[in-house]
Amino acid sequence: MPENFTPNERTRVVREPHRGVYDRDTINKILDEGLVCHVGFAMDGQPYVIPTMYARVGDAIYFHGSAASRMLRGVSAGIPVCITVTLVDGLVLARSVFNHSMNYRSVVALGKAVQVDAPAEKIEALHAFTEKILPGRWNEARQPNEKELKATSILRLPLTEVSAKIRSGPVEDDAEDYSVHVWAGIVPMQLTAGAPIRDERCDPAIPVPQYAARYRR
Ligand SMILES: Cc1cc2nc3c(=O)[nH]c(=O)nc-3n(C[C@H](O)[C@H](O)[C@H](O)COP(=O)(O)OP(=O)(O)OC[C@H]3O[C@@H](n4cnc5c(N)ncnc54)[C@H](O)[C@@H]3O)c2cc1C
Repeated sequence: MPENFTPNERTRVVREPHRGVYDRDTINKILDEGLVCHVGFAMDGQPYVIPTMYARVGDAIYFHGSAASRMLRGVSAGIPVCITVTLVDGLVLARSVFNHSMNYRSVVALGKAVQVDAPAEKIEALHAFTEKILPGRWNEARQPNEKELKATSILRLPLTEVSAKIRSGPVEDDAEDYSVHVWAGIVPMQLTAGAPIRDERCDPAIPVPQYAARYRR
């Protein structure tokens, strides 16, 4: 696999092009840190953008197909989708309203998503979803049975046309605004995990697993 994606007319970041990143490693890290992706597709001229969970396995993204599955009936060649993943790292409070912004890392992936039929690949995708939610969980929870596997629709998007965009660093104000007497700076943002809350029907004798008790992001 080449280390970089080659930007084309569909994936080249136009605005603030210096923020565009096509390096595979950086893109994989953003995809692996994100928990939710937004899947965009068009149906009968109406665009839909549906949030859903996903996991990257090698050079593909797997996501649940319930939202798009009705479109897939009879479309064996796949459906064109645009998948985005966004991580918000900070609020950028500039001196001027115009230059307020966010620090972020985002990925946009374009291509045709295909339905996964092979049970072994479905299992691999479900394993990746579960381990992404919490590493260690797959081995403890009951694994999917045949009926559940059949009822689960999963799609795979090969990562071929991909871009990332990253804004980091300080406020960028216009030169004349640095004299404006107002606080300016960054408010860092982070997604954090709280303490686990036992399910009402969970036997109190079962200890909280270490992977949940110690989960940090
Ligand atoms: C949290 C957050 C807040 C943002 N707020 C603003 C805002 O207020 N105003 C604003 O103008 N922009 C904002 N952006 C940037 C925005 O996502 C677009 O990059 C920008 O509006 C359009 O860029 P473009 O004209 O270069 O891209 P377009 O011509 O729209 O897209 C061309 C191609 O560039 C790539 N691309 C564009 N944007 C991104 C991206 N964010 N991540 C990865 N690949 C991308 C895609 O492959 C896309 O197909 C924000 C981004 C994030 C993540």
